[in-house]
Amino acid sequence: MTGACAREEKAAVAEDKQTFEWRMATTWPPNFPGLGTGASNLASMIEACSGGRLTIKVYGANELVPAFEVFDAVSSGTAEMGHGAAYYWKGKIPCASFFAAVPYGLIASEMNGWFYYGGGLELWKEAYAPFGVIPMPGGNSGTQMGGWFRKEINSVGDLKGLKMRIPGIGGEALARAGGTPVTLPGGEIFTALETGAIDATEWVGPYNDLAFGLYKAAKFYYYPGWHEPGTTLEAIINQKAFDALPADLQQIVLTCCHAVNESMLAEFTARNSEALQTLINDHGVQVKPFPDEVLKRLRQLSEEVIAEGVAKDPLYARVYESVTAFQKRSAAYQKVAEQAYLRAREL
Ligand code: CA
Repeated sequence: MTGACAREEKAAVAEDKQTFEWRMATTWPPNFPGLGTGASNLASMIEACSGGRLTIKVYGANELVPAFEVFDAVSSGTAEMGHGAAYYWKGKIPCASFFAAVPYGLIASEMNGWFYYGGGLELWKEAYAPFGVIPMPGGNSGTQMGGWFRKEINSVGDLKGLKMRIPGIGGEALARAGGTPVTLPGGEIFTALETGAIDATEWVGPYNDLAFGLYKAAKFYYYPGWHEPGTTLEAIINQKAFDALPADLQQIVLTCCHAVNESMLAEFTARNSEALQTLINDHGVQVKPFPDEVLKRLRQLSEEVIAEGVAKDPLYARVYESVTAFQKRSAAYQKVAEQAYLRAREL
């Protein structure tokens, strides 16, 4: 063996043994079912796949930084990774909502199609690049529920004066219907609803909503989650920290994000159906559909909000164009695929 070869081999061995310790800040209550545990699963997967060369300590909301400071923490390098949802950052990045959920937008399978094979992930990376942050889909809740209401919603007029915890463009649509949208991190929702500080709240779906005990604070559980048809959660990575990893660890991080994106949706699919039965049978929850009139009005108002975003911001307009073209094609296909099959299954 020549001296140069030996030196190269030695360097490769040294790189193999180099270890990295990362922190992951999350927007979820620590180990919250599905969302928080998804973040923990991601950290465990990366640690196992890397043979312990990359370890990640996961922090719940407020343990390292408050929920809504996770993006800034990853951007500044306070945390090398984060786990949350892109629509929380729409004040900073107007188009961010499209990478989590927009009202009447894509369902989970379509979100994944758009991200991985429809140009969505490239646009998302472009939106976060100025902040030194790399985004990856890091889970999906599936179609969410419409939320918990202390009073029935029978008409568009019932939205007037309604104070509701609802994030993103859905919240802006509610404001245009005369309601007052409120943004609260998950950990503060139950108390706000129970004390009447808010009249209604959406959170996720039966599995997570049961865990928060929201049925104790409001008895009407409305569907569907028009505002969050298939919310993608995000795993975000500090660009410099990522660049400092050897190539195999970089690939492990990205592949594990891909894996948790799939496994979280599978978990929600299984657990939501169990939890819905528990809510109905054990807790006497009244599950009700929003009237069509309400759904149509909220759709109109959501489209108005989005049209204003398109007019204001060129990147927002490009993201909108991409996702809308995808949705149009997919809708035509779903009519003869899952939508048609689900109907056939009920005949
Ligand atoms: Ca939600």
